[in-house]
Amino acid sequence: MMLGTDVSDLSTTAANAAAQGLSIVVPLYNEAAGLPFLHQRLGALAKTLRQRYGLGCEVVYVDDGSADKTLDIARGLGAEGLDVQVVSLSRNFGKEAALMAGLDYARLGAVLFMDGDGQHPPALVEQLVNHWIEGGFDVVYTAKAHRDNESRMRRIAVHGFYALINWGARQKIPADAGDFRLLSPRAAVALRQLPERNRFFKGLASWIGFRQIRVDYEPAARAHGVTSFSPGQLIGLSIEGLTSFSVAPLRLASLLGVVLATVAFLFGLSILWETWMSGKSVPGYPSLVVGLMTIGGVQLIMIGIVGEYIGKILSELKARPIYFVAEHSVKRGEQEAGTGASIGQRTAAE
Ligand code: UDP
Ligand code: MG
Repeated sequence: MMLGTDVSDLSTTAANAAAQGLSIVVPLYNEAAGLPFLHQRLGALAKTLRQRYGLGCEVVYVDDGSADKTLDIARGLGAEGLDVQVVSLSRNFGKEAALMAGLDYARLGAVLFMDGDGQHPPALVEQLVNHWIEGGFDVVYTAKAHRDNESRMRRIAVHGFYALINWGARQKIPADAGDFRLLSPRAAVALRQLPERNRFFKGLASWIGFRQIRVDYEPAARAHGVTSFSPGQLIGLSIEGLTSFSVAPLRLASLLGVVLATVAFLFGLSILWETWMSGKSVPGYPSLVVGLMTIGGVQLIMIGIVGEYIGKILSELKARPIYFVAEHSVKRGEQEAGTGASIGQRTAAE
């Protein structure tokens, strides 16, 4: 029995890339206001890619239980120049689940993840595709060029997060990498094979390896509306990412335990020494209470950390589906004959 997975037959060469095609996955949560414009830009992008590389494109819109008219608008979008799939989830499952659904439904070879709020510039996609086709890279990820416009506190928090998650890791997760990322066909297949339910895409996309390259970019301002992630949710997501990806917090807990125990031991020795030398017992209710509270607090925090991991194990064990699709439609692109791959060709070949 083979315990690994061989995806070598899916390697991309400049010659076979065009035939594999590109699926663009766009998660949508209340993005009705900007969707028509985004779709128009993606149509133009598909045209450019077809002309330049002969690359066929499809877009997979994943409606993540939007409360506005996102789904209605997505259903009505025309398929000029690219195939359009609309996958509607049964409720709001969160961005990671929406990305997973998109990855599952993507039918062409390479997969590109892109936000639906216009922050990920379609113009940059050409460069990403170029790294894949001409450069032979498998994971082309983008990262914020700088964080100048963010507060000092936030920068420190981000720095601490990556330091912790990468602590002792063989494959480091690049700091600042976003979800705007292109996966070659073999990288996409590799990512689909990972069985866990608690997904942390940034981490997993880095973990699979292959040839990776970073592209710095300046995220555009949100085209409309406001971000759907509050600071509280971001902290939640960070804990989620940390615990589903790394055991660093557990190691930190053990380390802290060792440090505290050592300090306590040395303190005990010093008390003994003092009593022995001066003959008086050390008065010490305050220090006793402080010591007790420190140990108590640290223990509670550590139990909390262990609890997070037990929660993860429980949710993996329950093995519930990551999402439910309530509705799915496919519109075949109206494009000139003989250009690139389209969904029809792929499904016929399968
Ligand atoms: N999104 C989603 N489900 C959610 C929240 C967000 O599919 O529960 C989508 C959203 O429509 C957008 C992308 O994820 O396309 C990024 O969301 P947002 O712009 O709010 O996040 P930010 O850019 O601030 O990180
Ligand atoms: Mg955004």
